[in-house]
Amino acid sequence: MQQDPLSIDPKVYKTLLESTQAIPWKIDWQSMTFSYIGPQIEPLLGWAQDSWVTVQDWAERIHPDDRETVVNFCVAQSQSGVDHEADYRALTRDNGYVWIRDVVHVVRDADGNVEALVGFMFDISERKKTEEKLIMLQKELEALSFKDGLTGIANRRKFDAALELEWRSALRSGEPLSLIVLDIDFFKQYNDLYGHLQGDQCLIQVAKTLALAAVRPRDLAARFGGEEFVVLLPNTDAAAAAKVARRCLRLIDKLQLPHGHSDIGSHVTASIGVGTIRPDPTASISEFIDAVDHQLYAAKQQGRHRIMSTEPDALGEPVASPAE
Ligand code: GH3
Ligand code: MG
Ligand code: MG
Repeated sequence: MQQDPLSIDPKVYKTLLESTQAIPWKIDWQSMTFSYIGPQIEPLLGWAQDSWVTVQDWAERIHPDDRETVVNFCVAQSQSGVDHEADYRALTRDNGYVWIRDVVHVVRDADGNVEALVGFMFDISERKKTEEKLIMLQKELEALSFKDGLTGIANRRKFDAALELEWRSALRSGEPLSLIVLDIDFFKQYNDLYGHLQGDQCLIQVAKTLALAAVRPRDLAARFGGEEFVVLLPNTDAAAAAKVARRCLRLIDKLQLPHGHSDIGSHVTASIGVGTIRPDPTASISEFIDAVDHQLYAAKQQGRHRIMSTEPDALGEPVASPAE
């Protein structure tokens, strides 16, 4: 006849419990003391089995960053008699920590009152490590998806996202939003003369320089595509944007990158269109970009190596200097 499993000798139960990976424990609800904790706790955390006396001992051995949330959660769940589980970092005796998943079952007496809590602590460090690694990889991937592969500055996707955000923010605040669109002059001829690889190096240099020109924390320099770059300038009026645009041209001039086949000088230069808008609900992002692009086109038409703005008055001093 099959034996009723519940009639197994308690000693066998104990042996079973104490030979599992998970650490069993029991807390008496009235006195808030441990009536039992498996001996496996000592090899895992370093705290001796008999040092687990009160619930306080448990709480104190939780990482300070997790303690309050975990204790409050577990106490609330237990008070309402709900089985629950909590992940937390349990402190080890040698000042480290181990990620634990504590799975808790509430035991009630015949009248339904909470009598005890029983549970298992599982060592989930490996799982947490994998999770943390995954989160890190995800972040890296996200960063990569916003980075231009060649130059390392923000890419078009990042720019589109930032513009969308800054547009909405400007719409709310009424602050001006400025945009610089910059295109390298005679770059096809540069490639033809020096080769595509050196062309790439030139793009890297220009990109690095533009990143330097965008100095405020919310400014964003990005590669729009090919040899075209953008600098997004939130909360920036036309005069301040013209200043940044001039800085961009000057910094590229300062690089003194030789260009033997430029029609306007002996070094690499760029042309810039700049625009400023205080977005209102009738305005559209694409029309704004078109307007700035139009200024870039005009700068090319008028001889290159110059800045044209949607607000010409803001440009102030002459913007085209003879290229060397
Ligand atoms: P403009 O002064 O009117 O701007 O003339 P441009 O020659 O610079 O303009 P165009 O649009 O005719 O040529 C752009 C060139 O940029 C052509 C293309 O091969 C080159 N280009 C685009 N992307 C890259 C890149 O990633 N690396 C390199 N080396 N060249 C690129
Ligand atoms: Mg060009
Ligand atoms: Mg171009």
